[in-house]
Amino acid sequence: MELIVAKFGGTSIGNGKRIKQAAQSVVDEYMNGKKVVVVVSAIDKTTDELLHIVDEAMEDAVTEKQLAEIVSMGEMTSVRIFSSAIESIGVKSEYVDPFMDQWPIITDNNLLSAKVDFKATEDKSQELMKMMDQGIIPVVCGFLGRDPEGYITTLGRGGSDITAFLLGHCLNADDVIIVTDVGGVMSTDPNKLQSAQKLDKISVEEMRDLATHGAQVLHPHALKYKDPKINAKIIGFDHGDLSAHGTEIIGPSKNEMLKTSTLSSDPISVIAVVGEEILNKPGVLAELTEILAENEINIFGISTGQNSITVFVNKKDADEAHRILHDVVVKNDNLSSLSLGREIAMISIASPDFIDTPGIISDITEPLRANNLNIVEISSSQTSVVIFVEWKDGEKAYELVRSVLE
Ligand code: ADP
Ligand code: ASP
Ligand code: MG
Repeated sequence: MELIVAKFGGTSIGNGKRIKQAAQSVVDEYMNGKKVVVVVSAIDKTTDELLHIVDEAMEDAVTEKQLAEIVSMGEMTSVRIFSSAIESIGVKSEYVDPFMDQWPIITDNNLLSAKVDFKATEDKSQELMKMMDQGIIPVVCGFLGRDPEGYITTLGRGGSDITAFLLGHCLNADDVIIVTDVGGVMSTDPNKLQSAQKLDKISVEEMRDLATHGAQVLHPHALKYKDPKINAKIIGFDHGDLSAHGTEIIGPSKNEMLKTSTLSSDPISVIAVVGEEILNKPGVLAELTEILAENEINIFGISTGQNSITVFVNKKDADEAHRILHDVVVKNDNLSSLSLGREIAMISIASPDFIDTPGIISDITEPLRANNLNIVEISSSQTSVVIFVEWKDGEKAYELVRSVLE
């Protein structure tokens, strides 16, 4: 039997009419023979309002425990209303909140931005299965958790998206559907640029990078739990239909739950271009990269300094790149000279956990320091770290980095 996890954001349940429509859309799927778990956020802007009131009433005097308990009231309320709305249509439903035995989401005791205990949550999620086997539609508080001592925790702002994907994973769901106030993922925030266009699909990797750079439409940590075989999509609430076409989230292409590391099989060459104050001269970077692109030379990395730009290319392309870039340097008054440097090795390390692991870069680099291996360059994004070392140090550095990950 197909299993859907459907998450409704604040706007989607922003008033009574919308709650009724949302409840009907859930019942429609249930009537089609599917199991449905509902995850809800707080109604409309309730969380913001509660936080504002707390701030006015006691500024910084509130404890984390008090704050978590107060904000939890947003979701505590919305599950009760949503579940009653389903029952009013004539289908059995029960709300599930952190005070109940059946509560699935177990976290550590970091009360306001708690980390999920995946194993415990996976076990407890089976309680939701039992409810569904009895024909009941469970309505679960998004955003909330419970720590080992029984205290209420929260997963951080926007955390209901995490709840949805986490439950999707634990319950082996077929679909995770995020219902929100826009039609799907757009080419940019439609509230900032009207010309934004809806995307039919986006990869997990792209979506996560978009989200970590601030696109609120999905919590960046939610996709940690996106299994390749789960169909996931983001749709607008106004259709009142969970089968609406929004934006499909595809992938991940590799098993992203794992940490991965790779060592480049070919040496990489570094080319440094210098010019006085080039950081303040528009168009220099474009000129250098454009000419390499025209000649189909791939760039593995770029770093910029006040007076230099360094590009990393495959060693087999290095001589050609050197010659081409030299022509640019000679013609461009802002640039004075360039040098083709030594051969280096590129080690890429990726893990969805990096986003919320303080100190990960120092953990990875410390053994290199201890073994006196020099790092030529390092770059990092939300889920990956790329380290460049001398080619001769590549194998050794790779082994050291791998031992950190294990
Ligand atoms: P919900 O309450 O349903 O969780 P959010 O307010 O958290 O909704 O997220 C939806 C909002 O995300 C949209 O109203 C939109 O302003 C914003 N947003 C930012 N970037 C994008 C984007 N690329 N595509 C769609 N929405 C975006
Ligand atoms: N209600 C919570 C918030 O506003 C969680 C969520 O909406 O996802 O941050
Ligand atoms: Mg949100």
